[in-house]
Amino acid sequence: MAWLKRPFLCHILASAALVTLAALASCSPEGEGPVGTLAPASPAFAPASPVPAYSPEVVQLWRTWRQATALSLPLRGVLYVSQGWDGRDPTHYGRWRYAIDFIMLGPDGRRYAGTGARSADYYIWGQPVYAAAAGTVVKVENGLPDRLPGQPAAGSEAWGNHVVISHAGGEYSEYSHLKEGSIKVTLGQTVNAGDPIAEVGSSGYAYEPHLHFQLQASAGMESATTLPAVFAQYYEIQRAYTRFARSARVVRSVPREGQYVSLTPLLRQAMKAASHVPAL
Ligand SMILES: [Zn+2]
Repeated sequence: MAWLKRPFLCHILASAALVTLAALASCSPEGEGPVGTLAPASPAFAPASPVPAYSPEVVQLWRTWRQATALSLPLRGVLYVSQGWDGRDPTHYGRWRYAIDFIMLGPDGRRYAGTGARSADYYIWGQPVYAAAAGTVVKVENGLPDRLPGQPAAGSEAWGNHVVISHAGGEYSEYSHLKEGSIKVTLGQTVNAGDPIAEVGSSGYAYEPHLHFQLQASAGMESATTLPAVFAQYYEIQRAYTRFARSARVVRSVPREGQYVSLTPLLRQAMKAASHVPAL
């Protein structure tokens, strides 16, 4: 308690610290950012406040669950994880915490060409979505309209057009925000891993075109609990779109927010901008 003998100095220091903190808080980049940075959200759900505590049943499920399904990435090409597990947005939270949002970035690091006002401007728009594992289609929603960028639909339309595939072991893969009318599979249909099932769209609660993917413990959407599922194998791309681009094989892992990944060591696309990068 010796510091109490120097109350004046402490007061000055404390005041300065508070002013600094307040200044930092007021400088929060929320809602601001240079053109081409990631959108504030690319979610399936609006954030709840406060985040609900996990029920004992959910905690027990996560603790005891062992993954039965070997998953592969549901998209091809060079992917960018715009929101990962426990996403900062934060829409991957609570029982939906183990979800991943994929987008594609251009060689210039932007999400779209042109103004970005149309869904078709986005690099990922219309890209084929593939079954992450073999299974049976148990849920299809195909008739919801795609939204304009920045104008997501909430409420009952939040998941957008989606497909749920049942796998062995009581596991279900789920694909959201699909393009209206693009779903190629029907209820009850069996699919193999890698079969095309739909195209990326912007239906539901999507600020921009992207694919929301999750493995869940039941077929339903609102009641589903996501599972901390890993992918069997993929390639992580470091220093994408530079002449120093490299890919590293990763097994039994999950792409993290801000990473570039690919199902294959596909580097030609990731290196397309190499000639534009000045020599160091
Ligand atoms: Zn999402």
